[in-house]
Amino acid sequence: MQSARFEGGQSMVDSIDAKARSALMSRVRAKDTLPELVVRKLVFANGFRYRLHVRNLPGSPDLVFPTRKKVIFVHGCFWHQHEGCRRARIPKSNVDFWKVKFGKNKSRDEQTIRSLAELGWATLVLWECQVNDLVTLKSTINEFLA
Ligand SMILES: [Zn+2]
Repeated sequence: MQSARFEGGQSMVDSIDAKARSALMSRVRAKDTLPELVVRKLVFANGFRYRLHVRNLPGSPDLVFPTRKKVIFVHGCFWHQHEGCRRARIPKSNVDFWKVKFGKNKSRDEQTIRSLAELGWATLVLWECQVNDLVTLKSTINEFLA
């Protein structure tokens, strides 16, 4: 995992970060997380247009590209238990509670992707920790939407 944040394109990235941060602070909805705002800025800057949190689709995906029939979720590493990620460590107290909770989250996420696929939608899951490497994030997004 990269320890240096936002390598490359520093000035663009600084403005993304500042804007995302102020947008984050001006909003109350838990959906508008910082990683999600970073992804949105990146997608928009790359020329792709999207709809947000489409509720009539399974899981109300974070970004929806209707003409491409593609959706992107931006998942928090902790709540969605990003496999092998250091942010996804199970808390030391109430271990059983967390295991059940995370197990439910995980099977719900899997079911969501299956339901979307059955309706003809392709899904890309991006993780919170991936916004630390904007270069890779950008190519992952562009490859998926191409
Ligand atoms: Zn992660």
